[in-house]
Amino acid sequence: MKMISLSRLADLRPTFIDEVVKRVEACEDEVVKLCSRLVQFPTFNPPGITTDCVKFIEEYFERWGIRSKIYQNKEGKLNICGEVPGEKPGKILYLMHLDVVPEGDRRLWTYDPYGGVIADGKVYGRGACDMKGSCAAAMVAAKILSQLDPEKHCSAEFWFTCDEEVGSDEHGAGWLARTGRFKADVCLEGDCFMFPGRPAIDIGMKGGMGTVRKTFGKAAHGSQPHMGDNAIDKLIRVLAYAKRLEEYPLEIVDEMKPVYEACIKYYDEQETLTEEQKAGFKRIWRHPTVSLNLIKGGVKTNVVPDSAEAYLDIRICPGSNLQPIKEQLLKLIAESQVKDVEVKISGPTGGYYEPPNSKPVKQLIKTVELATGITPTLKVETGGNDAIYIKKYGLNIPCLGFGAGDEGLLHLTNEYVSIENLVICAKVYTVFPLVYAK
Ligand SMILES: [Zn+2]
Repeated sequence: MKMISLSRLADLRPTFIDEVVKRVEACEDEVVKLCSRLVQFPTFNPPGITTDCVKFIEEYFERWGIRSKIYQNKEGKLNICGEVPGEKPGKILYLMHLDVVPEGDRRLWTYDPYGGVIADGKVYGRGACDMKGSCAAAMVAAKILSQLDPEKHCSAEFWFTCDEEVGSDEHGAGWLARTGRFKADVCLEGDCFMFPGRPAIDIGMKGGMGTVRKTFGKAAHGSQPHMGDNAIDKLIRVLAYAKRLEEYPLEIVDEMKPVYEACIKYYDEQETLTEEQKAGFKRIWRHPTVSLNLIKGGVKTNVVPDSAEAYLDIRICPGSNLQPIKEQLLKLIAESQVKDVEVKISGPTGGYYEPPNSKPVKQLIKTVELATGITPTLKVETGGNDAIYIKKYGLNIPCLGFGAGDEGLLHLTNEYVSIENLVICAKVYTVFPLVYAK
C-alpha cells in the first residue's frame, strides 16, 4: 500500500477534489442508510422483481432533481438510469445491479437477511456486498455530482438493472446493451470486490470453457459388478485425469504478467485468508481452475450404472492462450484410456481485459489515489458480471470494475458490507467524472 502526497498532483486541482471528497465523507450516514434500505427490498432472483426498488431510486433521483428513465422489457423486471450531464467531454456509464441471490436457510443468518441491520461498522443482509452497497454509493455519487458545477466534470449515467444473477440477456443489462441503450466512453461496473480499506480495480474478467463429459458402460446386477461395465467408475477416472489440467501453466501475454503478480500479492497479504486459501489464490492467476460442479449417474442402488455425466467449469485468465489448454485437456482425457467417453466443450471464451496502461485504467487509478490516498491494486474478476454483455455485443466501451463489496463475502450467509468500503466507493464514484478526460 503506497500513500501518495496529494500536493504532488496539483495539476488536478486537488483542493477542489479534496472539497468534494469531504462532501462525500459528510454523507457517510446517508450512504449507510441507503444501503440498509436497498437491502430491505427482497429482490432475490428468481424471481428478481425490482419494481419497488427501482421506484425507490426513482424517487431519490426526483428529490435531487436528477432526470431518470425506467426501461422495462417484462412486468416486474425494471431497470432505471439517472443522468447527470457534464460539460467536459466524455460519458461514464455506471453499471449496478439490483437483484440478489436467494438467502438460503434463514436459520443460519444472525440477522434477518432483508433487515438491513447496521452493526459493528457494517451493513448486514443479502445483497449488502453483492451489490447494494455499490448501488448506495452510486446514488450518493449521482446526488453530489449533480450539485457540482457541470464545467468541472464529464457526463455520467447511473444504471441500476435487473437479472444480473440469472443472466440479463432478456431483461437486464444484456437486453439494454443489445438494444443500443448503452452509449458511453467508459463503463464502471460495481461488481468488484476489495479487502477492507484496500481498494482494487478490476481491469478484466476471466474466460473459460464448460465441458460436459459422459461415459457409457453396461448395466448389470449390483451383486455381480464384473458382469457389467460401471459408467460411474469410468467417469471418476476421466475426471481425475481432467483435473490435472490445473497443473498446466498458462501462457500469459507480457502486459498482463505484472497484473497477475500483483493479484497474488494482494491476496497473499490478507490475514483473513487461510494458508490453503492463499495457495489457491496463487494458483488461479497462473493456471486454469477446474471445478467439478455437476455430476449425475446411476438409476438404482442395486444396478451397475450404464451412463454417467459430469460438468466441469474451467476458468482461464484473460490474456492467455486458449488453444493449447483445450488441446491439453483432450490429451489428458485420452491418457485416461477410458473407452466410451463423450466430451462436449462449450466456449472456450478468452474473457477480456483492458490494457493496464490504457488511458481509462490510468485515470481510474488516479481517481482512487486522489479520492482515498491509496494506490489501488489492479486485478481481474474471477467470475462473471454484466460487463460481459458490453463485450458480447461489440459495444466499443472499455469496462472497468470498482465496488464497495468486501472480497470473499458475496453470496454467503451473513453477507455484509463494511461502512469503510461504502465510503471509499462513494468517493471514487464521485471523483471519477472529475478526473476522467476522454
Ligand atoms: Zn453482483
